Amino acid sequence: MSRQKIAVKSPLVELDGDEMTRVIWSLIKERLIIPHLDVALEYFDLGIKHRDETDDRVTTDAANAIKERGVGVKCATITPNADRVKEYGLKNEWPSPNATIRGILDGTVFRKPIMVKCIPPMVRAWKKPIVIARHAYGDIYKNTEIAAWGAGTAELVFKGSNGLEARKTVATFKGPGVLQAIHNTDGSIRSFARSCIAYALSEKTDILFGAKDTISKIYHSRFRQIFAEEVEAKSADLKAAGIAYSYGLIDDAVARIMRHEGGILWACMNYDGDVMSDMLASGFGSLGLMTSVLVSPTGAFEYEAAHGTVQRHYFRHLKGEPTSTNSVASIFAWSGALAKRGELDGSPDVIAFARALETATLDCIDRGIMTKDIVPLTTLDVKMPATTEAFINAVAKRLAESLA
Ligand code: NAP
Ligand code: MG
Repeated sequence: MSRQKIAVKSPLVELDGDEMTRVIWSLIKERLIIPHLDVALEYFDLGIKHRDETDDRVTTDAANAIKERGVGVKCATITPNADRVKEYGLKNEWPSPNATIRGILDGTVFRKPIMVKCIPPMVRAWKKPIVIARHAYGDIYKNTEIAAWGAGTAELVFKGSNGLEARKTVATFKGPGVLQAIHNTDGSIRSFARSCIAYALSEKTDILFGAKDTISKIYHSRFRQIFAEEVEAKSADLKAAGIAYSYGLIDDAVARIMRHEGGILWACMNYDGDVMSDMLASGFGSLGLMTSVLVSPTGAFEYEAAHGTVQRHYFRHLKGEPTSTNSVASIFAWSGALAKRGELDGSPDVIAFARALETATLDCIDRGIMTKDIVPLTTLDVKMPATTEAFINAVAKRLAESLA
């Protein structure tokens, strides 16, 4: 390439991963990034073998690097279970890297669909992406449950470390039943609200938060109140950016989302986010077209694809069979991270490169070059899906043309 490479001022933290996405990762780097950018990649190998060799230290180191540098890009990784421990001969069933990184950054995950002209969303009203944020702490995911075996009384007790005690009757059982206690903390709710505000400011998007404070006058009301306080604290910034915050009851919020044209951040409590993110993902198309960004309350960003390592395709790849794995979400993880790096560094040429990479990718799909997973969703008549590598090569060609 005779053209001079675009310089990225600060290092970008890169987290490599596993299986098919690791294969895709190196193709993206080799064909789409390195030929055009002069960028220092602070590389962490989160492949399962290296996590095992380092007793998972590499995950912690990578998270701290993102915290320090402000921007990271991550490949999908295996979360080991008993089968994986056997498959790779691991020392330990290491925790989910995403959970470790989220814990260190105290961050919230935002999922954003990638919209392509030839793949219309299932919902006619949706014209722009609807981004969903899930508060990933507490509620039923950290519950305590008891099966009541017969008649009796259930109580909820809080013993303050100051010696004071609060006690309420939950129910008086006449026969068998079930009971559950859930909790959350002001600190976690506040971090969630702050991450949502940081994301909205970064993406210039309005915020909708839904809960059920009419029914849950203490628990859900606390969420509403903390959100309102954090929005108030940032009201000058939000106003300057033209960002509106609104609160609605969760059922009303759902109804509004179905009629919404998009271009909004939907902040959800843990369970709502779990359920609604799957609804949005399938409503917008495919897992291969969903990106994800982890945002810390202090404004550090980690970009990745929302899908996993696509193990089934990897096994085919290992046998030497052709694959047709969608790399779009991984490409957009790179473009998202580079655009953010460019923004923080004040480098418009880096931002422009990131946008050119996205445009080249979407143009290929709109011209009928796409992987197998999205062929059934498109309005185009596609005779032959592209292989994993052919798709990336097509993007590389278009990108090179557009930058020439
Ligand atoms: P997955 O990797 O998301 O794949 C599930 C299925 O979805 C695939 O078999 C494939 O269906 C389809 N699919 C997903 N992404 C695709 C893409 N880019 N292109 C084409 N098809 C795609 O989920 P999984 O198989 O349940 O998990 C595999 C590993 O990923 C696990 O070890 C899990 O721990 C890990 N994981 C990591 C992350 C992360 O790092 N963020 C997230 C989720 C899971 P077909 O086979 O029908 O084509
Ligand atoms: Mg779910």
